[in-house]
Amino acid sequence: MRIGVLALQGDFAEHQILLRRVGAETSQVRLPAELDGLDGLVIPGGESTTIGKLAVTFGLIEPLRRFAASHPVWGTCAGAIFLSKDSQRDQPLLGVMDITITRNAFGRQVDSFEADLLVPVLTDPERPFHAVFIRAPLIASAGKGVEVISKLSDGHAGQIVAARQGNMLATAFHPELTNDDRFHRYFLSLVKA
Ligand code: GLN
Repeated sequence: MRIGVLALQGDFAEHQILLRRVGAETSQVRLPAELDGLDGLVIPGGESTTIGKLAVTFGLIEPLRRFAASHPVWGTCAGAIFLSKDSQRDQPLLGVMDITITRNAFGRQVDSFEADLLVPVLTDPERPFHAVFIRAPLIASAGKGVEVISKLSDGHAGQIVAARQGNMLATAFHPELTNDDRFHRYFLSLVKA
């Protein structure tokens, strides 16, 4: 199984380390031709406006939309914003997931925080997933075809932070920055399905 990691900007290297650990081969994607032969794609965290502008520059917007129509794609944080159809800002988006995002939803003082999430779709679902949020977005609303995978409990109770729509997965936090590889394994299960 070969999983590409969009490597325009952001923490793509951390995703590659975890993907390898869960048994996938990985390669970096910067050009449309580098999507060929991949079974899935991860879009990392970083800065979504930068990722979007670089994707326009490298002619990746349409190829990425086509890829997402037929393969699993997972966006973490900035990657989730890039997948969304609406970020309530003017920036290039793939617009392939029926979710509306609020960027930097947790304000400046609390740019970063960690929270334990309950994520029933993961293996060992009783064990909370310790999630790292860095200037994180929220999924402000999700369309009918979108399955909510996790919500915050304390502090911002009820706010959606992980969602899936068919082949596509969006997480507002960074599973690649923890040692818990269950989200990466869950993504591989979508690729195998
Ligand atoms: N704040 C960033 C954005 O809006 C996302 C941050 C991240 O990916 N950790 O693009």
